Amino acid sequence: MRRYLFILLFLSATFGATAQLKPRPDAFPPKPETLDSKAITMATTVEEMADWDRYPTYDTYLEMMRRWVATYPTLCHVDTIGTSVQGRLILSMYIEPPTDADLYRPEFFYSSTIHGDEVTGYVMMLRLIDTLLTSYGTNVELTSLMDRTRISINPLANPDGTYWRGNHTVQGSQRYNANYVDLNRNYPNPFSPAKPSVAQENQAMMDYFAAHQFRLSANLHGGSEVMNYPWDSFTSNQNPHPAADWWREVCQRFVDTARTYGSNHFNDVTSSGYIAGGDWYIITGGRQDYVNYTYNCLELTMEISTRKTLSSDRLPEYWHFLAPSFIHYIGEIHSLPDNVGLRSTETGNIAIYPNPTTDQVTVTGLPEGSLIELYNAYGRLVISSFNSQFSILNLKPGLYLLRTAVGTAKVIKH
Ligand SMILES: [Zn+2]
Repeated sequence: MRRYLFILLFLSATFGATAQLKPRPDAFPPKPETLDSKAITMATTVEEMADWDRYPTYDTYLEMMRRWVATYPTLCHVDTIGTSVQGRLILSMYIEPPTDADLYRPEFFYSSTIHGDEVTGYVMMLRLIDTLLTSYGTNVELTSLMDRTRISINPLANPDGTYWRGNHTVQGSQRYNANYVDLNRNYPNPFSPAKPSVAQENQAMMDYFAAHQFRLSANLHGGSEVMNYPWDSFTSNQNPHPAADWWREVCQRFVDTARTYGSNHFNDVTSSGYIAGGDWYIITGGRQDYVNYTYNCLELTMEISTRKTLSSDRLPEYWHFLAPSFIHYIGEIHSLPDNVGLRSTETGNIAIYPNPTTDQVTVTGLPEGSLIELYNAYGRLVISSFNSQFSILNLKPGLYLLRTAVGTAKVIKH
């Protein structure tokens, strides 16, 4: 009997994970993953990342970022979003080739591993940076994408969680930051007046969003394979996202493309491979809803691997089926839905004249005293006015975006 019980226990320990209903990846408390320590190989030098089948040590990661900027100084720079509780850097590679200054290029943002143990996306984003930079000027499609889009890629949003056991390994990484805060439950709830104390890593990220004009973004996780579109705070019956139809099309394209290269993926949560977040399970304090609501940036939560801490030798396989979708998703920024955000350049009742202009701009159709903001092609606010007539004489020639509470419009300065 005892022996029989032992065998049962052994079987359930060995096969239990697949025999039981799959737990939600963001369930609380998170389910620990058993992992053969041999499955994680670390790269202690940049050269050891050559085949992309290792995880970088923290120092290797920093050196990769440094070398890319040194090798492609005209294509990219590194933004320091902030620092973690333990003082590690939260970085983003900002890719912006020199091109026609008059061209408006929308800003795109990828960010991964807000949950420190969900590390597949970390290496995927590093490899994406490498692919983009090495393709500029040689790959027509990618060159065109980079010429038309400013792309910021943050590979590691929670470095303390990922390097919880030290900078030399991602083995034993943890979900939380160093203060045991779940960073994807710690953003202010845009639908509630409550003001949580925001973690240092998240405050830095919020400041980064505020300083930019990201129009489309994604936050990468692991533990499942599903595209999770907004809202997380409501079911789609309670409150559908205004761009829900567009989201479903975008998710469908992502999943279809991925399945072309890896047929057995994105089927562990839904057969479609995507779901409205709240229909899966409701959370509050997630980054997705905060970013969608507060910054008018369309952000998608991408769950990209059924294992949170994927064996390093499987990283190339994941890249193979995910890379075309990652790249295609960036391009979706050029077909944003008309009813959301800056894409709505049809001004409705607003009129702007003269346009093009060299000096004065007059805006009609707005209630008196309305705020009018003008952004340059880099997404920086250059003028804000409560007066419907103002001068842009001091601005450089180029394309500007005028933003009001009821719509946006392009303004050309000669
Ligand atoms: Zn996660």
